[in-house]
Amino acid sequence: MVFSVGCWGLFRGRIRVYPSTVTAQPDDYRDALDRARYHSIEWLESLTTRPVAPRQKADEVAEHFRVPLQESSIDPAEVIDELATFAEPGLMGIPSGRFFGWVMGGTLPSALASDWLVSAWDQNAAMRFATPATASIEEAAEDWLLDLLGLPASSGVGFTTGATMANFVGLAAGRKKALDDVGWDLRADGLSGSPRITVLAGAESHVSVDMALRYLGLGLATPVAADDQGRIRVDALKEALDAASGPTILCLQAGNLHSGAFDPFLEAIELARARGAWVHVDGAFGLWAAVSRSWAPALNGLELADSWATDAHKTLNVPYDCGVAIVADRALLRSEFGAHTDYLILDAHGDPFERVPEMSRRARGIPVWAALRSLGREGTIALVERLARNARELAQGLSALPGVEVLNEVVFTQVCLSFGTDERTRDVTQALIADGAVWMSGSRWQGREVLRISVSNWSTDATDVAASIDAVRRAMAAAG
Ligand SMILES: *Cc1c(COP(=O)(O)O)cnc(C)c1O
Repeated sequence: MVFSVGCWGLFRGRIRVYPSTVTAQPDDYRDALDRARYHSIEWLESLTTRPVAPRQKADEVAEHFRVPLQESSIDPAEVIDELATFAEPGLMGIPSGRFFGWVMGGTLPSALASDWLVSAWDQNAAMRFATPATASIEEAAEDWLLDLLGLPASSGVGFTTGATMANFVGLAAGRKKALDDVGWDLRADGLSGSPRITVLAGAESHVSVDMALRYLGLGLATPVAADDQGRIRVDALKEALDAASGPTILCLQAGNLHSGAFDPFLEAIELARARGAWVHVDGAFGLWAAVSRSWAPALNGLELADSWATDAHKTLNVPYDCGVAIVADRALLRSEFGAHTDYLILDAHGDPFERVPEMSRRARGIPVWAALRSLGREGTIALVERLARNARELAQGLSALPGVEVLNEVVFTQVCLSFGTDERTRDVTQALIADGAVWMSGSRWQGREVLRISVSNWSTDATDVAASIDAVRRAMAAAG
């Protein structure tokens, strides 16, 4: 059956109205899933030619959706048609090879298809006993991740909603250890009246680290000066550690949002160790550099930290929502997040819910397994190296345009551009977004307006790179 998107009138006439006490019809799943499959493929196949930017704003899309809820039931397949048709003008081409906004990433076919299965299976991925298939597949993905990233094989791994919550998990483990070390029982007595924990973070740490610290009741981190690429400065860190007293946590970064730069792990971790501090690394996208030998010098010492946060929904290109929290001390992670009640059936091996904040959750580690299984080790390395190569090629092509300055050392997937004055950079950014052929975000970095490129999509190829350079050239002309 061929359904052309946009002919809402056509299917409105066919809406099947059920009695309000709806019971399942045998073909409900088949019809609804067929429609979802059809619309998914239409969307994915439109990505190479459609403008990246959405055509409608949220309030315009809302006109179709924010209607009074009708009294009677509607055929599930019709609901899917309606949903896909009216959502389409408001969709951003995030899975497009020409989307370079924020740090996002698309979706590998294996990851997307496995995510459909995750929904169909509807497993609550909390306990090994209850959902053995998803628990063991996620465990396989955990092992592969630790191996690929070169992190201690005995680490505990939890699949979180994203890197914000992965930062939360790593820092929660650090909070527990910091207070254990001074004999404070955090579980029983909470934070009220506890010794103060000093948290140090590079001046350019990601805002999600602040958010995680806030959720944990640890307050603001003390910022430690960063260099011109946003890396924490070892001399400043030494001073900050000397000035700190009591339990201490240090937050480092693999992959600066603007420059892609990596903190000097070995020196920073050695300093922190000498003070008995916990070291957490936010590597939402940059931790993936560890899969390739190309970045071994830049990442020297990374594996010596206590906890790491990353996203699979960025660099690995699995669907949202999938972050990864890794804590070297597996037992500590379990003691922070585990719970024991009579109705749970626990496994001596440790259960998935004991490594994340949620009790019930989807098996979001499965798309990680499928992505890695499909890519293999070489394919995973090639994916990460390709993103960085595309970033270098964009930087080279764009810096050849008159009046364009690349502000950062392009060491990974991030490129920051200036077009001269702040005003002109803003104008070019606006013209580029209005043009629609590509999407790059504006930002402010080291006191200047920038156009920021993040190459995070597995499918970006040479054609996309060339088209993107053309789009910037057009935007420069349009901005005058
Ligand atoms: C994206 C990002 C985060 C937050 O990750 P979410 O998946 O959005 O929660 C944290 N740190 C860095 C460096 C990031 O790029």
